[in-house]
Amino acid sequence: MNLHAPPPRTRLWMPRRALVTPAALDHAHGRAVAARLDRLGIPVERLRSNRLTGLRDEDPRRAYAEAKSTLALVVAPPAKLTLQPIPPSADWRIDLAEGCPAHCAYCYLAGSLAGPPVTRVYANLDEILGVLRDHAGAGRVTSADAVRAREGTTFEASCYTDPLGIEHLTGSLSATIRHFGAWDAPVQLRFTTKFAAVGALLGLDHGRRTRIRISVNAAPAARYEGGTDPLAARLAAMRVAALAGYPVGLTIAPILPVPDWREAYDALLAEAAAALAGVPDLDLTAECITHRFTAKSKGVLEGWYPGSDLPMRAEERSRKRTKFGTEKYVLPQELMAAMRAHLTARLAARLPAARLLYWT
Ligand code: SF4
Repeated sequence: MNLHAPPPRTRLWMPRRALVTPAALDHAHGRAVAARLDRLGIPVERLRSNRLTGLRDEDPRRAYAEAKSTLALVVAPPAKLTLQPIPPSADWRIDLAEGCPAHCAYCYLAGSLAGPPVTRVYANLDEILGVLRDHAGAGRVTSADAVRAREGTTFEASCYTDPLGIEHLTGSLSATIRHFGAWDAPVQLRFTTKFAAVGALLGLDHGRRTRIRISVNAAPAARYEGGTDPLAARLAAMRVAALAGYPVGLTIAPILPVPDWREAYDALLAEAAAALAGVPDLDLTAECITHRFTAKSKGVLEGWYPGSDLPMRAEERSRKRTKFGTEKYVLPQELMAAMRAHLTARLAARLPAARLLYWT
């Protein structure tokens, strides 16, 4: 068993172009990201105004392709500095960026992003990190949960982006991990990722106050995850992160009734267990998120991925009210119960060290 395996080799996303707003360059982090983009040889367009324009195209496929190959360096709007609770994951949501370069046919961002899916990186990182302190001890989600309260006040950084997928371009995640590492208080940064390039995070002073969760799915779902790193690389990344002392986690998402789902999810858990074998002081959690969609997200995803065979037929689902009063479509009750019973039992058998945080 290799306890000191190197981080996995990964393909890094390089945008075809980067747009930089003038306001972004008023911030030290914005200037550092712009310099990094220059160093990487990415064509950078310095905009005259702070608005991103010209991103729409009559052809939605072309608009999508353009947007997905564009990174914009902008200042986060003031609303981003007012943190919101994000149940069931964390007490508070923090956004380092918005958008993701991958092409998942079930991307959870489809229902929440407005306009073409450009990856917007926030230049005012100091301001974003500056508001966190006031929220310590004020959480009402995980802090109010007797089992999870020991995590401290939790801050989730992957609601609107995959922060690791763009870290080589931004450095934002490393800066945030260092911020939590130096913050000697019961607080925790958490993020989840379908990427594997953890190398730059391994040597950081994280103080065990960042939980790196790896988003995984059963093998038959891999075809829905275009542009992400392969499962084996993600699991290898989890191993090296755990060996570097990070608390780690599995985000099993989105859980789908793929063919032979019992065997497929059990095989996934077996692979995860093999990846973590022998890790000392392992602090491992698991989160199970079943597939759901809304009329809006289905419409967006069908526009982005017209050829996908991802099952999204409303008549095969149960309806549930969202917190916004709209309807979402979830797995039918009986199937949900069967999957929950099976996956949680296999999780307990394969990864007895894992604390299951929630099933949703
Ligand atoms: Fe969406 Fe996550 Fe896939 Fe990125 S990796 S496209 S955020 S589901």
